[in-house]
Amino acid sequence: MTDAPVVQKHPIGSRVAKGHVKPHVGPDRKAYEEEHTQSVGERGDEWWAKRRLTPSFFLSSSLLQKANETLSWYRPFQTVRSGSFAQGNIAWFLEGELNASYNCVDRHASASPDKTAIVYEADEPSQGRNITYSELLLEVCKVANVLKSLGVKKGDTVSVYLPMTWHAVAAFLACARIGAIHSVVFAGFSAESLRDRINDCQSRVLITSDEGKRGGKTIATKAIVDQALKECPVVDKVLVLRRTGNEINFVDGRDLWWHEEAEKVSSYCVPETMNSEDPLFILYTSGSTGKPKGVVHTTGGYLLCAALTVKYVFDVHPGDKFACMADIGWITGHTYIIYGPLTLGTTTTVFESTPVYPSPARYWETVEKHGLTHFYSAPTAIRLLRQQGHHHLQSFTLSTLRVLGSVGEPINSEAWEWYNEHVGQNECSVVDTFWQTETGSIVLAPLPGAIETKPGAAQVPFFGQAPVLVEAATGELVEGPGEGVLCLSKPWPSIARTIWKDHARYLDTYMNPYPGYFYTGDSASRDEDGDIWIKGRIDDVINVSGHRLSTAEIESALILHKGVAEAAVIGIGDDMTGQAVHAFVIMKPEFSYSSSNETSLVKELIIQVRKVIGPFAAPKKVYIVGNLPKTRSGKIMRHIIRKIVAGESDQLGDLSTVAEPSAVDQIKQKVSESQ
Ligand code: ATP
Ligand code: MG
Repeated sequence: MTDAPVVQKHPIGSRVAKGHVKPHVGPDRKAYEEEHTQSVGERGDEWWAKRRLTPSFFLSSSLLQKANETLSWYRPFQTVRSGSFAQGNIAWFLEGELNASYNCVDRHASASPDKTAIVYEADEPSQGRNITYSELLLEVCKVANVLKSLGVKKGDTVSVYLPMTWHAVAAFLACARIGAIHSVVFAGFSAESLRDRINDCQSRVLITSDEGKRGGKTIATKAIVDQALKECPVVDKVLVLRRTGNEINFVDGRDLWWHEEAEKVSSYCVPETMNSEDPLFILYTSGSTGKPKGVVHTTGGYLLCAALTVKYVFDVHPGDKFACMADIGWITGHTYIIYGPLTLGTTTTVFESTPVYPSPARYWETVEKHGLTHFYSAPTAIRLLRQQGHHHLQSFTLSTLRVLGSVGEPINSEAWEWYNEHVGQNECSVVDTFWQTETGSIVLAPLPGAIETKPGAAQVPFFGQAPVLVEAATGELVEGPGEGVLCLSKPWPSIARTIWKDHARYLDTYMNPYPGYFYTGDSASRDEDGDIWIKGRIDDVINVSGHRLSTAEIESALILHKGVAEAAVIGIGDDMTGQAVHAFVIMKPEFSYSSSNETSLVKELIIQVRKVIGPFAAPKKVYIVGNLPKTRSGKIMRHIIRKIVAGESDQLGDLSTVAEPSAVDQIKQKVSESQ
């Protein structure tokens, strides 16, 4: 299995191609290729650094507009880039000085103070509001001054454990304003996970809230914090945002109310002058493959890539309303809720609720209410909504949408088609974006105005990116159509610079596996058109009688069955075939079957895979389950399922990142019943 399946290409979304504004890159693939070739050529680094050509990046007709016009610098950089993958010391825009919060807020607040910076869609649909750039500036300055009053200095870490409220954006930017390094922990994490992340980066100050609201439920945020802090000796101040106003435990001398402290400080805070290479934040990876890594991003390069990928991958123009539905606690939230859109002065959305509260129409209600132009979500959410049925979309006007994005896992073509047809009404561009916490910004994606799309493929590299496929065993490059380990061969500005206090792990994880390249840990194939298809993680590839099968492919075949909502497949050692495919399948709620006809359902599912891929890919075993172990960001944790089936349940490792531990028990039970 080397070639990607034959697919129907989808034309460029008509709302992008024939919209009121010309797409930034277009009208066809050739236009993209010309620009891309320049960006990875011998003088490719200069693509990022080009001097200002016009006063406004939005008005320019040229694509050659990068660091100097996208960002405002206090002091210009002299050197575009230094360092290499091999040395693990890449740096961009050296000597340059800037401030991320100034770039995200001040300059827009002065140009258009009343423009909406944030659409805050609260958990209860009636309770949200819009926040202007000038309001955001005021809040950022206040919190920045509060942090200073608590003794936080440039270079200190500040941990943030906040639910999805617009104030969280102010907390991020307040840290950036004074040069503190934020470490944001997803507010769905347990006390233990929070404790470990605080201790790893040793922050003295934590920013949190009394409680959180999500899907109509109240989350005891502060109580979790109190539990975590029992074992975080370094934390001596906790700044608490009042979100619900309910009674909570308050520790005298340690805990302080955000609103009370904000009253005491002045309304303006001078932004700290930061070097381009000063750390902006630490963020722990999702933990799909094991112990999370504290990835460190720096200021200038990260901010530039965040902004340019929003601009080109989503074809964002003035007046657009961008909505990324990820949580701020993940890299997707960092880059595509906060730093990317705000650096461009775009309106961004903070969505506090869930896709199914108060009903599975919540996203579409939100799109209509605010006239959103961009919607960026994850396959897990798209599959969930597909499972609920498309009648939930029918009464809403979704015609403002132009570009739909997906990130986090390979998107099954069935889910892609559903997204395209029912959300995009066959008129939007659907961009499957591949990237990682470590890459900081999107690496592969079909650019909306230029690339015809293929369901399930992330397709082409962003400007400046030069992906290669490497033969796993030999390290040799795979040329032309074929399959291999996905590596990146050219440094880009938002590459993570290190793992917090563990540079050796950074080198071992990303730089040493294939010297001279950045190793992604994902496998991919390249088709006849040169387009790239992500197959899944290297460890997830299944080898049956010499056929290398990707989990994504088999799962996509299963999901084509009319009753299947979600599927996870794994490879298990087999005497005959080397490895055999085991499939775990969740059925749609309305698809009725009883345990007595489970056997015939299983047969149908096996036939389904034989038909779509071939007999060699047919699962040896199919388990119908109610739930799958996923990370808190919604990714299927195949390594856990694999260990359970292999009889290694006692070696499941770090389970702190599993969203619903009961899913693990369910799999254990199902597997033991079937043995
Ligand atoms: P950890 O590194 O801790 O195991 P993680 O890799 O899940 O966790 P992230 O950085 O959040 O942490 O996720 C990046 C990974 O997500 C990629 O390496 C890839 O496996 C997967 N991914 C992201 N986007 C896509 C996409 N569009 N298509 C396929 N896979 C994707
Ligand atoms: Mg990873």
